[in-house]
Amino acid sequence: MRSAGRGVLETNESTASAELKTIKNPPSTPASAKDARERAPICLFVGQNSPHRQVGSPLLTFKIDVDCFGKAAPYLSTMIWATKIGGLMYLTCTDGRSLTGRLPENSLKAYGSYARSHPAIQEQALRLLIGSVQQQASSKGLGIEPIFSLWFNATYRVMLRLVASSQLTSQNYGFLGFCHRCGNYKTVSWRKLSQAVCEFDNQPLTLTGAMWLGQLHDVAYLHKMEQIAQQWQWDKVVGLLSVMIGEADFPPYFYTLREIGSRGKLPIPKRSHLIEALQNAGYRATITHINPEAIKTDADIHTCIKFAKTLNIEH
Ligand SMILES: [Zn+2]
Repeated sequence: MRSAGRGVLETNESTASAELKTIKNPPSTPASAKDARERAPICLFVGQNSPHRQVGSPLLTFKIDVDCFGKAAPYLSTMIWATKIGGLMYLTCTDGRSLTGRLPENSLKAYGSYARSHPAIQEQALRLLIGSVQQQASSKGLGIEPIFSLWFNATYRVMLRLVASSQLTSQNYGFLGFCHRCGNYKTVSWRKLSQAVCEFDNQPLTLTGAMWLGQLHDVAYLHKMEQIAQQWQWDKVVGLLSVMIGEADFPPYFYTLREIGSRGKLPIPKRSHLIEALQNAGYRATITHINPEAIKTDADIHTCIKFAKTLNIEH
């Protein structure tokens, strides 16, 4: 089946094979709102009780690639309806200006979340995207599990698995707070929104959300991908997957080395030395694939600055 117009949804009903399906963006912008409506993609899937939504159905796709240049938001609901339970959805988005806080009103309109600006905005964009899909899946009685989340070359890509029950909770779908006075981050739950202040200086936090606060990647799945990449001798991919495995379950933000140096009035600390110092003191710390000049850790910004100062003295 196929729909013409703004998006093109291609499927093949004659086979149950897991082919790559693509919803593509238009070659050009429609001339008017009326034209846009007429050119809008036709929704071919009607609801979760339809026979084709059942496991094993040949009528839905196992893997969908929604390859957007710009906003992904218009395609999210169609993508969910078109995917089998247990199937994979590969979503691309280049709408960085909305998701990184430069155009927060646009983020609100497209994804239902207000995005603000701070040093870890690329990870925020991935989490806003995942959160929007999670919320839309949940409204249909379904859920998603992130397989991997990738930021590369100003492009946001997430691979998600559709599952048969809602995965959204008030713990994994909430808010990220940033203190512009001291640079610290804190996750904020729905019930604590009225108390969203920095624990170090009592300043009101700048909040982004609601967004996905759970794991960015499925570690077991990434290990399988890593094994295949090793067999194929894809050394760069093996390295990338190793970093992603390491960062999967850290708090939903990172600290840039520049921020640590600037706020501590220090030279920019060496990444490996700072991670080692934090780990030796009992904190979790690792690198992130999103920014080679940043670390992810469960230590606060002030602890990072304290250890960076120690490194400055030692070296
Ligand atoms: Zn603060």
